[in-house]
This record gives sequence, C-alpha cells and structure tokens, in this order.
Amino acid sequence: SNTPYNFKDYIRVIPDFPQPGIRFKDITTLLKDGGAYRAVIEEMRAAVQHMNIDIVAGPEARGFVVGAPLALALGVGFAPIRKSGKLPGETITANYDLEYGKDQLAMHKDAITPGQRVLIADDLLATGGTIATSINLIRQLGGEVVGAAFLIELAYLTGREKLEGIDVFSLMTYE
Ligand code: IMP
Repeated sequence: SNTPYNFKDYIRVIPDFPQPGIRFKDITTLLKDGGAYRAVIEEMRAAVQHMNIDIVAGPEARGFVVGAPLALALGVGFAPIRKSGKLPGETITANYDLEYGKDQLAMHKDAITPGQRVLIADDLLATGGTIATSINLIRQLGGEVVGAAFLIELAYLTGREKLEGIDVFSLMTYE
C-alpha cells in the first residue's frame, strides 16, 4: 500500500451490537475522516481498475457510501440495490438471509443493461447473504458480475465461498 493510513485504526468495534455476541464493525469513525475516506476509496479503485467495470452496484445503506464514490473514482455509473418497496419504478426482487435477520432486496428492471460488467460494492462481507442476493438480482437483469469489493471481510463467516468465480477484493480482513 502507498498510503500512510493503517485503516483498521479507523474502525470502531462495538461489542454486542445489534445483539449479544456480535462484534459490530462501525465504519462511521472512518467516514468522518476525509483523508481516510478518500484513501480507502482510492485503494479500492486501484484494486479493481483492471476488471474493466461498466457499472457499480451497491446494497443500501452502507453499500451506497462505498459504491457511489467508487463508481465516481472509476468513471462509471451506480445502480442502487434497495430493500423492497423503496424503488419507484418497475422492479425485480430476491429474498435473503443475513447475519442477523431476513429481508428482500430489489433493483429497477432497467438498472443494468444486459451484458454490462458489474462490480458489487459494500462496506462489509459477513456470511455473504447480502452479496449472494445482489448477484442473483444482477444476473436476472443480464449483468455479468465480475467483481466484489468490500472495506471489511469477516473471514470467519466464510462469505467468500458464496462468491465463486467472482474477483473478490477486501481492504481489511478480520480473522
Ligand atoms: P452478510 O449478508 O452476512 O454478508 O452481511 C453483510 C451485510 O450486513 C452488509 O450489508 C453489512 O453492512 C451488514 N453487516 C453485518 N455485520 C456487520 C458489522 O459488523 N458491521 C457493519 N455492517 C455489518
């Protein structure tokens, strides 16, 4: 790395949130530092540049905070992946389980042009449920999921195993 930042120093770990036993990785302590925020996005851009991405997709809400600036840095557009009922146009949906809950994600039917090379961005890879569902949506729309980029990977939850055939980049890993 060519930055002076030790990025993990900017992550706040909060025990027992949102429920007992979970050690929540809070990225707001990184986001509020303009230099660190810019540096993580630049590191991610450099790591995915070779993938020839046409569009970045990210799940709400923290996937927007990572995915939108990454899209701008790459010079491509951004497609939001949202909880059901939020997008105003015609949508497709897919169900998912996550580390602590259950829900449904949606995308606009015209969010991705068939054949586009898509990078999925999110703050954190845990069990991989959110990203597996995002992949499902993008493939329904005819997009090619080329890569996935995260600020943080919780390696002990083995989410990476759900992303076979996809180029996965994580800036920080917790074992
Ligand atoms: P997964 O679907 O199990 O991979 O969980 C990933 C999703 O849950 C991401 O969208 C994260 O924002 C959220 N998440 C799970 N654990 C944490 C955490 O420790 N810190 C921040 N977000 C988390």
